[in-house]
Amino acid sequence: MLCLGIEGTAEKLGVGIVSSDGKVIANVLKQHIPREGIHPKEAAAHHADNLPNLIKSALKKGELSLGEIDLVAFSQGPGLGPCLRIAAIAARTISVSKKIPIIGVNHCIAHLEIGRLATPALDPVMLYVSGGNTQVIAYEGEKYRVFGETLDIAIGNCLDQFARGLKLGFPGGPVVEKLAAKGEYIPLPYVVKGMDMSFSGLMTAALKAAKKHRAEDVCKGLQETAFAMCVEVTERAMAHTGKEEVLLAGGVAVNSRLQEMVKTMARERGAGFYVPEKSLLGDNGAMIAWLGLVMHKAGVKQKIEDTSVNQRFRTDEVNVTWR
Ligand code: AMP
Ligand code: MG
Repeated sequence: MLCLGIEGTAEKLGVGIVSSDGKVIANVLKQHIPREGIHPKEAAAHHADNLPNLIKSALKKGELSLGEIDLVAFSQGPGLGPCLRIAAIAARTISVSKKIPIIGVNHCIAHLEIGRLATPALDPVMLYVSGGNTQVIAYEGEKYRVFGETLDIAIGNCLDQFARGLKLGFPGGPVVEKLAAKGEYIPLPYVVKGMDMSFSGLMTAALKAAKKHRAEDVCKGLQETAFAMCVEVTERAMAHTGKEEVLLAGGVAVNSRLQEMVKTMARERGAGFYVPEKSLLGDNGAMIAWLGLVMHKAGVKQKIEDTSVNQRFRTDEVNVTWR
């Protein structure tokens, strides 16, 4: 069985094709580069303009025709409404015209399930750090539950806004990582409240610090502080749930310093540390296709009426019937 998955929650548009035995046949991506922060309607226009060709290129990569696809999946949320709608409309069109089932999936759960497919992790605590999300998620009582999350902006957004403030370009994460490697640590506000994190005050403080310190040093302080906050919450979630695996997900997780910090924490606890390859770490269509297949196999069925998008789709709204 073959599933075509469409990802379009934010500025990235992805199309993936995965087979029911877990083989990623195609996983193509097209990124909208915003001028000033992500403008939802501009990103949606980008997706509408590029999706037909991206679907064609995924099919071409797999040497397939649309007629050979058995199931279509799309990210139903959380994300930016106009962007979500483009992916949903395309998926509905394919479903109706090819008479194949459709499944709208939760984007955050898709990150977790592709991590379980692509790494040996079986039951991990996932640290999901991206442009729009920062959550610590793990399975408990038939749900994927959020054990901790940001109270304001996502960590990736914090890095992106900081970089934009210093005119370092977009996306900010990779530039900050490069500069931080040459920097000396300076202290910045560390904000963990219970199991939740806050990054907006940290970003403002970093911008302010950049007026009197070298950019390299602020980047170092920013990374160390933001990443330590994530590691603290992740470690506490592991201690609380008793789980012995940690899985990274999201675009920020490509950062080698973050990986090193999480790996150190895991090693000290005697826990497993897992990172999927880069193409499956950030937003991508293959993870949507894979979760679609997993849910379909578990008997989940949706009618077209069930496929409206949900900008605030919470991870723990989904009944996990497949584990
Ligand atoms: P995603 O939303 O999962 O597609 O990830 C996008 C986010 O990842 C953006 O906020 C980027 O700035 C961030 N990012 C990409 N590369 C890195 C890196 N090397 N270090 C930190 N953040 C990164
Ligand atoms: Mg994501």
